[in-house]
Amino acid sequence: MSAALARVPGSLTGQLVTPGDRRYAHLRSTYTTTASPAGILLPKNTAQVVAAIRYAREQRLPIAVRSGGHGLSGVSSNNGGLVIDLSMLNRVQVLDERSGLVRVEAGARWANVAAALAPYGLVISSGDYGNVGVGGLTTGGGVGWLVRSSGLTIDRVRAVEVVLADGTVVRADAEHEPELFWLVRGAGAGAGIVVAFEIEATEQRNVGVAQLVVEAHPDGRTVRDWVAYLAQAPRELSAGAVLYAEGRSALLSITAVVAAESLRRARPVVEPLLAIGKLLEHRTDLLPYPALVPTAHLHPNVGQQRGTTTNGLFSGLDDAGARAVTRAVTGPGRAVVQLRSVGGAVNDVAPDATAYAHRHQSTLVVASVFPPQGGAALDSAWRGVAGRADGAYVNFESRPDPAAFARIYPGETGVRVRRLWKRYDPDGVFRSALLTARTARSNQSARSGQPARSSQPARSGQPARSGQPHRRRR
Ligand SMILES: Cc1cc2nc3c(=O)[nH]c(=O)nc-3n(C[C@H](O)[C@H](O)[C@H](O)COP(=O)(O)OP(=O)(O)OC[C@H]3O[C@@H](n4cnc5c(N)ncnc54)[C@H](O)[C@@H]3O)c2cc1C
Repeated sequence: MSAALARVPGSLTGQLVTPGDRRYAHLRSTYTTTASPAGILLPKNTAQVVAAIRYAREQRLPIAVRSGGHGLSGVSSNNGGLVIDLSMLNRVQVLDERSGLVRVEAGARWANVAAALAPYGLVISSGDYGNVGVGGLTTGGGVGWLVRSSGLTIDRVRAVEVVLADGTVVRADAEHEPELFWLVRGAGAGAGIVVAFEIEATEQRNVGVAQLVVEAHPDGRTVRDWVAYLAQAPRELSAGAVLYAEGRSALLSITAVVAAESLRRARPVVEPLLAIGKLLEHRTDLLPYPALVPTAHLHPNVGQQRGTTTNGLFSGLDDAGARAVTRAVTGPGRAVVQLRSVGGAVNDVAPDATAYAHRHQSTLVVASVFPPQGGAALDSAWRGVAGRADGAYVNFESRPDPAAFARIYPGETGVRVRRLWKRYDPDGVFRSALLTARTARSNQSARSGQPARSSQPARSGQPARSGQPHRRRR
């Protein structure tokens, strides 16, 4: 039900979309949630973001902040409130070609960032799907295809421009507003609206991309060996793998990306993965980096991908842990599990340097179920794995609540995050659902989105549609 909205100030004329506007259908929802906000504000610059926050606060309506709309919990839209949608703030500018310093606005999609940087031979490791927005990913962490060689996306952020809840515009970096700079790198949702990030890109044109499908042994050894190899493999290697049930067995579909400019250098690095299970498919190609997050991934988000997702970080998986992960897929819960490498350069950063504190783990395990399965099925599938996890990543959690907060921001990090959220947003305008268990969806059982099935068989020399939202067919 729409609230009657007051007329927007002159500075926002034409930038408010309400029900009845033909743009509303494409702007109301997120990737994981169909929603009915009273209106969507579309600021085009920082001054309009300030005006949008002021206007929304004057209306005394809940505010949702949206960059790409891929957030799994669906809180980047709402019912009856106002959405500040940053999709028109989407510029990508190379500030200094030599150092690789790039200014990226929050509403850009990673496919567009990759395409804009390619002519400079620069890349930013982001995620595995081109339609994901810069703002949500970069305020949470950013586990990308070059994560072990480049670190998380936040590890290369050098400065941010933030609009706080009271409309103040702040530029934060290591010297200026260092507390805000710390907060925004890992717990940025809840701090304010980040309008732009300055990120140090790395030099890379091509990458070696191996795509493999192997049969996963039911006793867990295939998962165990994947985890063990990725924990100590050369840093040039980053990988994702999707474990899914096929009949009574499980398959592991792997995308392994080597930060190398030649196949000769890439092949030996992926070679050990060919032996972790019965090999069903394999190819290795040298591809331009944008092929991993292509513009073909771009699409409107209209609530098309529901599901429930959780995750855990691990320093390794012993036999029992690997078996539990495999059973999450083959057991009654029938989850789809994604394994993602972290470690490498991620662990060069001190745990207290950013609000993302998890700097010793090597593997991220993400589990999802899809309707008609809901949270209960996920909890049952995840039960054997949950107790072994050593932390969690905010961006792959579809049920933000205080229990998730404790896993994501452990100990002193959590204390500092709470304190700073309160300092920068004393009225709770951007209050995180992690503190309140507030959710965007009325239908809890259909909450959240799905992580990528990161490896589908390659076609015509193209990489897997790595982050392509993939609903497992049954
Ligand atoms: C198909 C798919 C693939 C994915 N792959 C990866 C991956 O490979 N690696 C990875 O790390 N993550 C991945 N993710 C998770 C992704 O990082 C998060 O879902 C992220 O929040 C999406 O960012 P967004 O801007 O698109 O989301 P949005 O839905 O727009 O935002 C999510 C939340 O972030 C906050 N937020 C957004 N923009 C801003 C801003 N400018 N300032 C302050 N707060 C803001 C808001 O609280 C908002 O509710 C994937 C998600 C999906 C659905």
